[in-house]
Amino acid sequence: MRIRCPYCGERDNGEFSYLGDAAPVRPDGMEASPQAMHDYVYLRDNRAGEIRELWYHGAGCRAWLVVTRDTRTHTVADVQPARDVAKARAVTPAGSASHA
Ligand SMILES: [Zn+2]
Repeated sequence: MRIRCPYCGERDNGEFSYLGDAAPVRPDGMEASPQAMHDYVYLRDNRAGEIRELWYHGAGCRAWLVVTRDTRTHTVADVQPARDVAKARAVTPAGSASHA
């Protein structure tokens, strides 16, 4: 599998570390219920198809990336810097981040 890093270009996936699903948003630790923290830490969907994942380019620019990948074919449809995704997520109506 090849990943096109927005800073370094196309590289082998061996240069990257996989973190997992990019969708979960960490609840506020001081305000969240134990169940909400449990769900955030342990519960993940195991979908077949396109998913957004967090990858770290440790052997390159050391940037965190959000990679949109099809889990059935390993086709990479999109790669974005995670900081850009986080900034876009923070700019939601009423200034609140989604906790879905
Ligand atoms: Zn890179």
